[in-house]
Amino acid sequence: MYDFMFTQEVRELRDEVRQFVREEISSEFLRRMDNNEVVYPHEFVKKLSRQNLRGIRFPKKYGGREMNWVAEVAAAEEIGCLGIALGCAFAMPSIVGEALYHFGTEEQKEKYLKPYLEGELVSAEALTEPRGGSDFFGATTKAELDGDHFIVNGQKRFVVGAEGADFFVVYCKTNFDPNAHKYNKISLLIIDKGPGVETEYLYDLMGCRGGGTGRMVFRDVKVPKENLVGELHGGALVFNQMMIPERLTSAAGCLGLWGALDLAVRYTDKRVAFGKKIRKFQAVNFNVAESITQLDAARALTYMAAQAVDNNAPNSRRLVSEAKRFATESAWKVVNNAMQMMGGIGYTQVYPIERALRDTRLCLIWTGTSEIMNMMIQHEYYQEVLNEAYDRRKMEQDAMKPDETERCFTDDDMWQIHETGPADAN
Ligand SMILES: Cc1cc2nc3c(=O)[nH]c(=O)nc-3n(C[C@H](O)[C@H](O)[C@H](O)COP(=O)(O)OP(=O)(O)OC[C@H]3O[C@@H](n4cnc5c(N)ncnc54)[C@H](O)[C@@H]3O)c2cc1C
Repeated sequence: MYDFMFTQEVRELRDEVRQFVREEISSEFLRRMDNNEVVYPHEFVKKLSRQNLRGIRFPKKYGGREMNWVAEVAAAEEIGCLGIALGCAFAMPSIVGEALYHFGTEEQKEKYLKPYLEGELVSAEALTEPRGGSDFFGATTKAELDGDHFIVNGQKRFVVGAEGADFFVVYCKTNFDPNAHKYNKISLLIIDKGPGVETEYLYDLMGCRGGGTGRMVFRDVKVPKENLVGELHGGALVFNQMMIPERLTSAAGCLGLWGALDLAVRYTDKRVAFGKKIRKFQAVNFNVAESITQLDAARALTYMAAQAVDNNAPNSRRLVSEAKRFATESAWKVVNNAMQMMGGIGYTQVYPIERALRDTRLCLIWTGTSEIMNMMIQHEYYQEVLNEAYDRRKMEQDAMKPDETERCFTDDDMWQIHETGPADAN
């Protein structure tokens, strides 16, 4: 449908993933996941690996495909049709891989990244703690250096793959100097599943079931010093980098909700009320118009963010946060609209709309809530505008002849523009 946006290579990948989704994953498997009969979707992960879909952006020498972000978003959109738990299992190598690839040592890449992308290992990320997820830098899980090991104690919660993963990337507090800045207090460690690493329980989740989400407890876990990813106390840098795939894959997975909308649209073409197909009622077909517009806008923003990251654009972080918030909120509206169009049957398990609705609600919460995305967006934009205003003025001043300098804005002019803008609009 959006082929004009893709290169031939991306189009082929998208078609390949679409075929994979149709042929490899049965509705019966999805139902078992939703019924909590699957603890972790190993079967799906194995299939992804066989198809070499675990490391789309990473170099071939580590088992990847060396493609770009647009390609990964195109693939994630297709996988998103399967629901959020499988979308997450698909995205996790991109997230954990980002940390290992950009900050890991060559030994870590050989020992963890390569077998992970090749499907021999499964990983999970442990950031959130019972004390809170949004205030990430307040992490209290401790890793104390003791000779050539760290000793880790603490708890993480809502870890997808807590059950199922072979190793975890875990953010821990390593700097106990009370005067240290919060950005210099944490480090990222690779922790193998083993003695002292416990999954306390699996949550009874509203959606996203079958992904092994649990609380983790670390009791005196001995972690070799060489499992430190990046610099000691340098976890903030790794976190910032990891948040790009974390949020962009969240946005991309939500685009797959077109499946729910297509289903509802087909339903409105069959269902009859008051002697006509319900699609003939404007209340229904305007709902379709609103939904597809939302979804297309989300798609445009998400692919733009992907291109921005591919091009290392200076505003790419803001675009990623915008895409995450907008695509997840759009998906929620679209699925809710789809359920409305299907009436009572949409609320039953006859169709997968109710599962999609339960799944989608999570997307507004995880990988940074909508409120946290807003915090990021406004922060980045203020920085851009204030710095750009300065740069633009300086550029203008540098370029202008002396008799043209009066065209340059003064601070008062800027104030006036702000003052008069809304009045003019009225
Ligand atoms: C099913 C599931 C899977 C998950 N998977 C993972 C995973 O694999 N790994 C992982 O580490 N985490 C995971 N999470 C955790 C998820 O990222 C967090 O739940 C999320 O970041 C919010 O943190 P919290 O739940 O502690 O809420 P809190 O941080 O306590 O926030 C509560 C509310 O307060 C608001 N709030 C907080 N601070 C501010 C502020 N400064 N300004 C405005 N509003 C604010 C929030 O937006 C939210 O509405 C998962 C969560 C769920 C439910």
